[in-house]
Amino acid sequence: MQITNNIMQNNLKKLQYSELSLLDQALVDKAVAMTDDAYAPYSGFLVGAAAQLSNGVVLGGCNQENASYPLCMCGERVALYNAAANYPKESVVTLAIVARNPKKKLTQPVSPCGACRQVIAEYESRYGSDIRIVLKGESDDVIIFDTIKELLPYGFDDTFL
Ligand SMILES: [Zn+2]
Repeated sequence: MQITNNIMQNNLKKLQYSELSLLDQALVDKAVAMTDDAYAPYSGFLVGAAAQLSNGVVLGGCNQENASYPLCMCGERVALYNAAANYPKESVVTLAIVARNPKKKLTQPVSPCGACRQVIAEYESRYGSDIRIVLKGESDDVIIFDTIKELLPYGFDDTFL
């Protein structure tokens, strides 16, 4: 949580859920609903995500764990892969990521892991457009990033290949 605490102290777009646009609220609501479907029997850490596509479609995802721990997949990546598999020609405009932890109330938004940041960056490159990222925990605090570049500066991408 230290990293998240540091994020909260910077000059970021921090606001309350009630201050979001109705579209963003609906997207966050979808992500919250997706946490109910998370398959997390080992960690109990429930992540839901919702991707708003350029054609208006919203697709969800949630984390998928496995007894073979390295095979676990984060909820935001499931949402992105869901979008890419079903609507390969539509860009992801906004990605809402919500987490819930029955063992410990998440009072601040939870930030995506490094692997997910790299995957989000890949889709920004693929679509040629930024992906807004809306983060929320179990409080009403929300943080918005306009692009993954704010969370993954100096990242590795296809320009090196
Ligand atoms: Zn992740």
